Amino acid sequence: MIKIELADRVKNLPPYLFETIDEMKRQAVASGVDVIDLSIGDPDIPTPKHIVEAMQAAVAKPEHHQYPSYAGMLSYRTAVADWYKTRFNVTLDPKTEVLALLGSKEGIGHVPLAFVNPGDIVLVPSPGYPVYPVGTLFAGGESYIMPILEQNNYLPDFKIIPPDVLKRAKLMYLNYPNNPTSACAPKSFFEEAVALAKRHDIIICHDAAYSEVYFDDKPPVSFLEIEGAKEVGIEFHSLSKTYNMTGWRIGFAVGNAAVIAGLGRIKSQLDSGAFHAIQEASIAAIKTEDAVLAKLRNTFQERRDVMYAGLTGLGLKVNKPQASFYLWANVPKGYDSTSFVAHLLEKAGVLGTPGVGFGAPGEGYIRFALTQKIDRIKEAVERIKKVL
Ligand SMILES: *Cc1c(COP(=O)(O)O)cnc(C)c1O
Repeated sequence: MIKIELADRVKNLPPYLFETIDEMKRQAVASGVDVIDLSIGDPDIPTPKHIVEAMQAAVAKPEHHQYPSYAGMLSYRTAVADWYKTRFNVTLDPKTEVLALLGSKEGIGHVPLAFVNPGDIVLVPSPGYPVYPVGTLFAGGESYIMPILEQNNYLPDFKIIPPDVLKRAKLMYLNYPNNPTSACAPKSFFEEAVALAKRHDIIICHDAAYSEVYFDDKPPVSFLEIEGAKEVGIEFHSLSKTYNMTGWRIGFAVGNAAVIAGLGRIKSQLDSGAFHAIQEASIAAIKTEDAVLAKLRNTFQERRDVMYAGLTGLGLKVNKPQASFYLWANVPKGYDSTSFVAHLLEKAGVLGTPGVGFGAPGEGYIRFALTQKIDRIKEAVERIKKVL
């Protein structure tokens, strides 16, 4: 056996949060606990039937069985551009301003490879999606943590970023509607971000995975709706959360043509594009009637209402989500986020995610995902009540 040693970039990785939680869950299930898993952001609802049927037809076509095009089928990219026009009134050139992705995680993780040199800084919101700092690390960049705090409505405070950091910053990630806090950003915040990016030549990468999972008929804005946004950045989108397609691995990036081209160059070296049959089915997904989506949103809204009323009724402080399918709650006195998650799992068989797993500023919080049927959510609240 030769000596097999991991590269430093892998050794330096924090453990992937959900692996640790999976292990906790596995042990609880093995010891006979009926676990209500509210830890992972993977919808329990199947992909709508018309999308599955479009896939069944598409997969039979031999022309889809060959290598796909790198940037994505023009018909898919055109469907994306048309949707942006209808939904956000943003005009995109499907040839240069839209790129198909193998799920948005892939693009989010790869974009620093195109633009970040060793020693460059990437501005990373925290608590946040772990892929932002990890993609930065893999590119040899340095993450500068922008805390997103309750007292600032979970928006980063750009004013406290030191000038030398802004000088070295090459790229900034933002994510609204936000995972894990479920916060939304107003247009004025994005305007501030665009102005900052222009002053310091910072590429903005906005992660909009949850833009269509919204409540109370209040659709969130797109970063690209802001004047000048397309000069400074791109927006990542995913079909995963909007259409319950997490397993299909399809998403897209849109916006600044030079940033799209840079990311496209990395992708053309690393992957061979998304399966054309999936792209064809995704066109059917993007054209989903609003009534179907409204019904999906309503399902999550009912769950949100039950969970929000339940947890606040128990005296927990919860940020009421306007979008996303997460509830971000303060852990009660006497616990930190990890000990509270362990307590709920051991005593109540309810699994949440410790806030600290999304970064140090997430300490003191727990995230519950609304990815179980409403009866199970009601039961989770009842069980939590008994162990508080
Ligand atoms: C789920 C999620 C994504 C992306 O998921 P894909 O399935 O890779 O498209 C991106 N960002 C955030 C914040 C998410 O929670």
